[in-house]
Amino acid sequence: MPQMQPNHLPLFINGQFTNAATGKTFHDINPVDGRVIATVAEADADDVDHAVQAAKQALHGAWGNMGVGERCDLLATVADRIMERFDEFLAAEIRDTGKPVGWACNVDIPRGAANFRIFANLVRNLPTESFQTDTDDGRGALNYALRSPVGVVGVICPWNLPLLLMTWKVAPALACGNTVVVKPSEETPATATLLGEVMNEVGIPPGVYNVVHGFGPASAGEAITLHPDISAITFTGESRTGQTIMRGAASNVKHLSFELGGKNPAIIFADADFDAAVKGTARSTFANCGQVCLCSERVYVERPIYERFVEALQREAESLQYGDPMNPATTIGPLISKEHREKVLGYYQLARQEGATVITGGGVPDVGQQYADGAWIQPTIWTGLPESARCIREEIFGPVCHIQPFDSDEEAVAMANDSPYGLCAAVWTQHLTRAHWLGRHLEAGMIWVNTWFLRDLRTPFGGVKLSGVGREGGIHSVNFYSELKNVCVKL
Ligand code: NAD
Repeated sequence: MPQMQPNHLPLFINGQFTNAATGKTFHDINPVDGRVIATVAEADADDVDHAVQAAKQALHGAWGNMGVGERCDLLATVADRIMERFDEFLAAEIRDTGKPVGWACNVDIPRGAANFRIFANLVRNLPTESFQTDTDDGRGALNYALRSPVGVVGVICPWNLPLLLMTWKVAPALACGNTVVVKPSEETPATATLLGEVMNEVGIPPGVYNVVHGFGPASAGEAITLHPDISAITFTGESRTGQTIMRGAASNVKHLSFELGGKNPAIIFADADFDAAVKGTARSTFANCGQVCLCSERVYVERPIYERFVEALQREAESLQYGDPMNPATTIGPLISKEHREKVLGYYQLARQEGATVITGGGVPDVGQQYADGAWIQPTIWTGLPESARCIREEIFGPVCHIQPFDSDEEAVAMANDSPYGLCAAVWTQHLTRAHWLGRHLEAGMIWVNTWFLRDLRTPFGGVKLSGVGREGGIHSVNFYSELKNVCVKL
């Protein structure tokens, strides 16, 4: 039986590393230099079925019979073990994504571990609701709600924050007693596979956590969507993919939780702490090379500070450092793949056709011979586009924003809300009531004031309109990953 090798990533089914039944593989590519770093076993519908059957068995066996305390203790040890193997997770994540070590060290890996700790604690301490009901005979009745797992959960993940977003789903699903079949993105298969080793090391029973690699249509993703024994799907990815999954999942009315795309506004008022707003917007636009669903691609700036702000953000963009992602001085990595770069460069070209002024960037940087085959791209700022431009309406998912001036609170809110998406917004102002007024009127699932991406994992996370269905985080995750059953006892 194959063990995990650094240059081969097998499936992980029923506690064992295994190749696909067909023997098919695909390549895992390092976006820094275009090198093939591993072959990856490609699951088909039979492999997915094998994983689902293992997950079902664990659900009705060792995992299902385990008390909530023991289950949550075990999950807390998963967090500890990820931290013990921090450097391996870090190296694997950076090889797959090319993201700078500073970001991966502070965000991806520690938060990936924290998800297990936080959801283990939450579920261990969860109360249930009860009601006393009056009855005609005066004796009454007692109602109480029991939580039970939903069943086998399909977890379909994107490539931008691979470990963090996968464990954000897997940790609460397992804490609630479900078992999972995970499909990492085909671009970033490494850390989900490594987590299989951790699950075995800490004694999570076989079949609780399964990993199937592959693509979407006619591959592992579609097989999860259509499998009749999968009761729920939690998906993070593009809105269009969400629509396809929703159609497929209708066959057995699966529970769905979708975290989808965004075209998020940042709104900067003249009364804001100017330097904080510039630094914050540089971060919200260029972090992770613009590949965070929460990134700001539309920046609205109050007219009195507009020109100064454009110049300051340009300086920030031009100060970003390309280079070896393991070098702490590197502040911007490549995009995830050359294919994705083609898409983003297509928008760079379209913006010119739509009449944009290119303030900075707009092309491919010279990163030297060593990285010539990587997916590098310049951070880019545009001005001068009408709000109807495709570059302002469509999600690009790259290190790019358009900056537009505004003259009143109402105008800023109207432009921000005029979008098919509604994931998050960042507001920069020192004016207390203005901040609350915007918080009330912006159409988005999450509003940050004078900060961005400050996440308390207990708070609701999700979007409105094309940005998603449902909320995860804290009790909202628990509500998605469990079924509530009311028991009514006549006294
Ligand atoms: P994607 O939709 O292309 O792929 C996501 C996952 O879905 C991958 O594992 C892929 O293999 C799978 N998939 C693709 N087609 C499928 C199908 N027909 N059936 C089943 N599975 C299928 O997204 P991506 O390019 O990996 O990620 C980028 C997108 O994710 C962006 O739109 C971004 O905004 C979004 N995103 C959203 C959030 C959020 O929380 N709202 C977080 C991160 C990323």
